[in-house]
Amino acid sequence: MGDGSLTSLNLRNFSKERRGPDEPPLIGEVEGFRDIKRGLVRIGILFLSFFPWRFLAGLVSPSLSYPAGLVWLLAVFIAVNLFLASRCPRCCESCFRKGLSRDTFAVRCVHCGTKLYWPNKDLSG
Ligand SMILES: [Zn+2]
Repeated sequence: MGDGSLTSLNLRNFSKERRGPDEPPLIGEVEGFRDIKRGLVRIGILFLSFFPWRFLAGLVSPSLSYPAGLVWLLAVFIAVNLFLASRCPRCCESCFRKGLSRDTFAVRCVHCGTKLYWPNKDLSG
């Protein structure tokens, strides 16, 4: 029993420490919160790209316009489902699903109530 075991015990207690929903992200949580934010931005960009995308496809060939729309729809479907599968960096539960219910527009984790979108200054750790 040396200092080593004591240090690892302290680290374990630290990582299990419960943090309130409004406490800023720890360094270990930052990447998870960034991923959630990125997922939302990705969906936004995809939505905005619908008309430019179909316009470009129509320029290449008018017959591509309809299949391009289907590709866009598939991309949105995948992006939204990846986003909804996000896990809360704080409680490790699904951010948007609880049992059979789903809150697509939740701004806080449906399990622990932690804020999901932090300003960039809190995510620069
Ligand atoms: Zn949570």
